[in-house]
Amino acid sequence: MSAGRVVATQAELRAALGDTAPGLVPTMGALHDGHLALIARAAAENPLVVVSVFVNPTQFSDPDDFARYPRDPARDAAAAFAAGADIVFTPEASAIYPPGAATRVEVAGPALRWEGAVRPGHFIGVATVVTILLDLVRPARSYFGEKDYQQLQVIRRLHADLALPGEIIGCPTVRDADGLALSSRNARLSPEARRAARAIPDALQAMVERAGEGETEVSALIATGEAVLRREPTLAIDHLVVVDGISLEPLTTLTPGARALIAVELDGVRLIDNRELRNPRL
Ligand code: AMP
Repeated sequence: MSAGRVVATQAELRAALGDTAPGLVPTMGALHDGHLALIARAAAENPLVVVSVFVNPTQFSDPDDFARYPRDPARDAAAAFAAGADIVFTPEASAIYPPGAATRVEVAGPALRWEGAVRPGHFIGVATVVTILLDLVRPARSYFGEKDYQQLQVIRRLHADLALPGEIIGCPTVRDADGLALSSRNARLSPEARRAARAIPDALQAMVERAGEGETEVSALIATGEAVLRREPTLAIDHLVVVDGISLEPLTTLTPGARALIAVELDGVRLIDNRELRNPRL
């Protein structure tokens, strides 16, 4: 375990960084093995690793969701250091947004549909905080999970458009033994809902297999996924779509890099997941 430092202000962060361009892993805390895999990768590829733990108020459209978001800074710092972090940055909102803050960063294109349509302002909050963090930390590399696939593409667009520093690294989704993607929200599921949630990775797996067998019609692939999801009557489908992996626009036939995106509601909890759909002949 590295003997890490916890810093809370911009000045402390700058002093701890000196001239080093570190690896950066932005998180909202409640760290699980998915976050820890990002931190371990950053530690393997950078001499210094900063993990930010900041429950960003501007990316929540629902104030209750923000209030209920789990917070345990001491546990998060210990877990981050154990995974290879050197600096844990835990700012108060006032250390990120100065008094009177009136600037927001809005990405169009890949941010418009899906999560962007269901959660108004969400990607504006994400893009604004990522811009601030990347400018503050000036990382050599920043690590984000494919779990939040649309977010990753929004951040790639933002990074290119504003010439933000370093490189954006997308990391594979870490899953539980039954395939469910790890998420801090999984803890809110009842045992019955947690069992039903398994239909999400199962539906994606069925679509991956059907694409692998040569199916290129998106309507047929979606029907395959929906049939699996419908086996769980308590699970409400918000969307199940197949999209271009960069623009996030819906497809009618499979193209290279195509992605299946799922969002469902289960037990009042919104869960998202995705997989790449690959046709061996494309
Ligand atoms: P969050 O704290 O939920 O904002 O997530 C922080 C980072 O961890 C984001 O880049 C997420 O995409 C990533 N992440 C969350 N869950 C997983 C997972 N199961 N596997 C890989 N990365 C993840």
